[in-house]
Amino acid sequence: MKQIACGDIVPGCAFTAEAKTEEELLAKVAEHAKTVHAIEVTPELVNQVKAKIKNT
Ligand SMILES: [Zn+2]
Repeated sequence: MKQIACGDIVPGCAFTAEAKTEEELLAKVAEHAKTVHAIEVTPELVNQVKAKIKNT
């Protein structure tokens, strides 16, 4: 599984997501970023997120 903690990117956010593939994980993060933080996912943000993905 691949895992991401939003708090690694947005300090103070407790959201974490898990998915089988990087694409699925990025989709979940994009959805969260949009609905909770009102952030549009840019290529820079995707790179930041990818750097923080943990394989579990
Ligand atoms: Zn968040």
